[in-house]
Amino acid sequence: MCGGDPAHGFVRILRMAIVLQSTLTCPSCGATRAETMPTNACQYFYECAGCKTLLKPKSGDCCVFCSYGSVPCPPIQEGRADDCCGSGPSTGA
Ligand SMILES: [Zn+2]
Repeated sequence: MCGGDPAHGFVRILRMAIVLQSTLTCPSCGATRAETMPTNACQYFYECAGCKTLLKPKSGDCCVFCSYGSVPCPPIQEGRADDCCGSGPSTGA
């Protein structure tokens, strides 16, 4: 009998094909690093492991993944940017 189970370990969420892994590219030194994005919050700051530059989102982007990542953050992927933390200031009354 031939061994091998092609489906073994192949776990996927089909309902929402949200990618949580994004490869950040530092605009300063060009270093790339794969990071896992949080689903419940946006990451506004990111320190490059290569040159220690503190990256911030470009204007109009809500997080560093949207600006420098290979994949935008989960709220953007789901098309609900309004729910994202970047939607306007939330300063209390
Ligand atoms: Zn860098």
